[in-house]
Amino acid sequence: MSCDTDFLPFARPDIGEAEVEAVVEALRSGWLTTGALTHRFESEFAAEVGCQHAIAVNSCTAALHLSLEALGIQRGDQVITTPYTFAATAEVIRYFDADPILVDVDPISCNIDPGRIAEAITPRTKAIIPVHIAGQACELKPIHEIADRHGLPVIEDAAHAFPATYGGQKIGSLSTTTCFSFYATKTMTTGEGGMICTNDAKIADRCRIMALHGISKDAWKRYTAAGSWKYEITEPGYKYNLTDMASAMGRVQLSRASAMRERRAEIAACYQAAFANEDWCSLPTALPDRMHAWHLYMLRLNPDRLSIDRDEFISRLRDRGIGVSVHFIPLHIHPYYAQRYGYKPESYPQAYQQYAREISLPIYSSMTPQEVSRVTNVVLDIGRQFHQQRNLTVAAAA
Ligand SMILES: *Cc1c(COP(=O)(O)O)cnc(C)c1O
Repeated sequence: MSCDTDFLPFARPDIGEAEVEAVVEALRSGWLTTGALTHRFESEFAAEVGCQHAIAVNSCTAALHLSLEALGIQRGDQVITTPYTFAATAEVIRYFDADPILVDVDPISCNIDPGRIAEAITPRTKAIIPVHIAGQACELKPIHEIADRHGLPVIEDAAHAFPATYGGQKIGSLSTTTCFSFYATKTMTTGEGGMICTNDAKIADRCRIMALHGISKDAWKRYTAAGSWKYEITEPGYKYNLTDMASAMGRVQLSRASAMRERRAEIAACYQAAFANEDWCSLPTALPDRMHAWHLYMLRLNPDRLSIDRDEFISRLRDRGIGVSVHFIPLHIHPYYAQRYGYKPESYPQAYQQYAREISLPIYSSMTPQEVSRVTNVVLDIGRQFHQQRNLTVAAAA
C-alpha cells in the first residue's frame, strides 16, 4: 500500500506478465532484430488504425524524420507546426536545414489553431505537422481543407494519440502520414519505438528503405532462408528499424490498448469530478466528435485565484510525493529556437500563457484507485490552502 511518504511517479509503464513472456519468447527464438514479429506487429497495428501501410521504427522522432524525407523536404523549405510540442517535432525539420514555422495554439485544446495556418503559408511551405496534444485530436477537417487548397501534405504527430478518433475515424488513417510513439511514458510502449502509418504506397516504400540503410527492399531478410546475400544501397539511409524484442512487447500492448485507454478515461473522469467546483484551476475540455486518448491530464491553474505560482504549486506537490510534469515548455522559449529565430515569449502568446499555468497530473492505467484519490486530495489541499478570492486581493491592494 502506498502511504503519503512514497513517491508516486508521474508515469509508470503498464507491463504485465504477458509482455514479459512475449519478450522472453522473442529472446529464446534466436531472432532479436527486425523480423517476423515486427512484420506481424506492423500488420496488426495497420489493421487497428485502418491504414494500408504501417512501418515500425525505433522512435516517433524517426517516424517524423522519415516522413519528411519521403516528402523530399530540402534546405530552405518551411514546415508549419506549433510551439506547443516536444523537441522532436521541430528538430526533424532542422535535420534538413529547413525552417519550422510556428503557428500559435488554441488556448482550450493547446492544439494548433487552424484559423492561423493560412497566414503562415508561403511559396516555401512544404508540409504541415499538427500535434494532437494530450491525445485529443486537432481540428483535422479545417487543417486538411487548408492543406488541400495549397497542395500540402499533412504529417500528424500522434505521439500522444493512440488510440484516438476524430469525426468517428481512427487517428492513423487520415493524413499523408501519422507518426506514433511507443516511448516508455506513452499510451502503449515498446521501451523505445514508433510507427509510421500511411495509405500512400510510395511513401511507405521510401520510409521502409530509408529506415534500414537505404538498402533495396527487404534488406532484413538477407539472413533468413528466404533471403539473399545480395543487396543494393540505393540511398544513404538511416538505422531506424525496430527490434523483434520490442515488437513482441508492442503486440501485447496493442492488444491491451483499448482497456488501458478505458482506465485512463476513468482516471480523467475522477479528476474532472474532483476539481469541477474549484475556481483556482481550469479543467481540460473534452471536445465533441473525437475520442481522447488521455495520454496527459493537463490541469491549468488560474493564477489570479492563487497566492502561489505554478512552479511553487509543483514544488509543493513534489514535497507531498506527487510526481507531475509540465507540457510543454514551448519551443520558442528554448535557447536554440529563441536565438536562431529571434523569438520572444510573446511571439506565441497563447502557447506561452498556457505553458505558464499548466501542470500535468499522473494518469496511467497501472494507477490504483488509492493513488488517484491521493493525487486529488493533495491537489485539492494545496489549491485550497493557497486559494484567494479575487475581491480579497483587490481589497488588500486598496
Ligand atoms: C514523445 C513525443 C515525441 C517523440 O517520441 P519518441 O518516440 O520518443 O521519439 C514526438 N512528439 C511528441 C509530441 C511527443 O510527446
